[in-house]
Amino acid sequence: MARIKINIKDGTIKRSDKVIGIDLGTTNSLVALVNQENHEAYCLGENGDKIVPSVIYIDANNQIVVGDLAKSHLLSESSNTVYSVKRLLGRSFTDLASHARSFGYHLVPDDTKAMVNIEINGKIYNPIELSSFILKHLKQKAETILGESIGKAVITVPAYFNDSQRQATRDAGKLAGLDVLRIVNEPTAASLAYGIGLNKAEQKTIAVYDLGGGTFDITILQIQNGVFEVLSTNGDTYTGGDDFDRTIADYWCIELGLKIEDIEANKSDYQTLRLKSEEAKKHLSEAPEYTGQIVLNNNTYNLSLLRETFQKLINPIVEKTLKSCAMAMKDADLSVEEIDEVVMVGGSTRTLYVIERVQKFFKKDQVNNKLNPDEVVALGAAIEADILAGNRKDILLLDVTPLSLGIETMGGLMDVIIPRNSKLPSSAGRQYTTSIDGQSKLKISVYQGEREMVSDNRKLGEFTLENIPAMPAGLPKIDIRFILNADGILKVEAVELRSGVQQIIDIEPQYGLSDNDVETMLLAAMQHAEADMHARSLAETKTEAEQVIYQCKKLVQNNSSLLSGEEVAETKTAIENLELICKENDKEAIITSMDRLNHITRPFAERIMDEAIGKALTGKKLDTL
Ligand code: AMP
Repeated sequence: MARIKINIKDGTIKRSDKVIGIDLGTTNSLVALVNQENHEAYCLGENGDKIVPSVIYIDANNQIVVGDLAKSHLLSESSNTVYSVKRLLGRSFTDLASHARSFGYHLVPDDTKAMVNIEINGKIYNPIELSSFILKHLKQKAETILGESIGKAVITVPAYFNDSQRQATRDAGKLAGLDVLRIVNEPTAASLAYGIGLNKAEQKTIAVYDLGGGTFDITILQIQNGVFEVLSTNGDTYTGGDDFDRTIADYWCIELGLKIEDIEANKSDYQTLRLKSEEAKKHLSEAPEYTGQIVLNNNTYNLSLLRETFQKLINPIVEKTLKSCAMAMKDADLSVEEIDEVVMVGGSTRTLYVIERVQKFFKKDQVNNKLNPDEVVALGAAIEADILAGNRKDILLLDVTPLSLGIETMGGLMDVIIPRNSKLPSSAGRQYTTSIDGQSKLKISVYQGEREMVSDNRKLGEFTLENIPAMPAGLPKIDIRFILNADGILKVEAVELRSGVQQIIDIEPQYGLSDNDVETMLLAAMQHAEADMHARSLAETKTEAEQVIYQCKKLVQNNSSLLSGEEVAETKTAIENLELICKENDKEAIITSMDRLNHITRPFAERIMDEAIGKALTGKKLDTL
């Protein structure tokens, strides 16, 4: 159980100022911290207990277990033991369909773009929730060890993660009760762990070679003025040390005259052989030869493997990773001579042959592999966390805005100007116009949140741009600019460009918004995504209909002499019909009614146009006389 400090006077929980660094891995996860006495990063836990398998077991009573205990259920209860949840984050069922069968648990088939769901004991979970269980476990682990409540963290993600995968990771952190100060790229964290990039004057190009159990990533980074830029990434999400084990298992089967299909058919035998293969592989990282014994189908067999043979076996896999490296170098438009440092990450970089081949590929005598390759990412996350906690004043790191900022447009829609996770300071603008002829004022309402309708978001402020000179609807050009400074203070500027009329206000976006509020808003946005989309498209249709009604009324009013009484009556009826239907929330009916009105008015709109052109030509003629 976690020991948490409680203020007995007012019952409040003492939150620590400590910020933890989390490596949320596909196979394993770790949590790390910087020791404030010697300023060194370390992973939390005893030697064998630092690594937390990223496995979640959910029992029949929906009790959740994470880590080693959960892993022990992997074979016996595969349908309710979730592993590799990181592969599902921010992905839809369609994205994963080709691999769906390789997961031992049930991915719910779905042909939409929504994030995939997992069904366990008849209950539906999404990957954000499942990841949050791992993060909560790591948070509790840190709290138990440190004896204080932890509320803030930095979490790492692969450099190739897209925005939705990054947001999903951030949301998982929120759900776990963590204020995620920063999402950091894993290769950036690994470089930081080696102290690369901590000196602001440093300018370097780095290759980060990350070979884990089931994934391979190569990232080329450039560091300049303390900013890490990803130049290119490449890799294979299904290549890693587990493939080394498989080649050894296959080799031994042939050596012992056994059929691999027979072994695979017996889950327990296969598992035993796989574990022996891994044991041999690890042994060969230290010694030139492995010998052992194995019992398969009640028969005992002697096993042996020379390092040399092992290297031949894994050569095609290592070659494959080097091909990816070559592609990453090509994409970054660099030669290996331009790489200053190579950083090794992931348990499989302990294999000597891997180190040798990587050194040769990058033409280096030495690569950065002194730190524990399982821990480097977490250690780097802790260093970044330490910087963000304000413990290293010499380094300035940019922050991001937690929620999107935007304004209300017609139909009560949220129009995002600065998206969430934008770096601070940040500035962005967009042009708007009026919807009514002669409109002299424009109300600008500023909102914060992720939902499509402003009514579901949080209002930050409102002001009116006045004295817009009278112009027909659509003619004024109103530039609305959001300027968010490094402290998260928002300034909104509105300028009518034709006349120069201007208004500026200051808004403090995060005032009064607790972490819980942010969490609730993000959760609501996720849960309501589909309903929001419908609401948005209904609101857009209604706005369009209102515009059509306005234009048609104007048409009839200004051109009564050109229209027959019948046409006027027919148009008025169609307008009334559309007005009535707009009160209902039936998008299709609104579209049908709007089409009918357009159909009726089109012929005389053309007639009016012809008349106007005729007049213009007549005028021109007179002019030239
Ligand atoms: P990771 O996904 O980074 O935790 O890496 C796990 C992979 O590293 C697994 O395939 C392990 O078998 C492998 N591994 C762990 N220790 C060693 C070692 N001493 N030598 C070679 N591979 C290892």
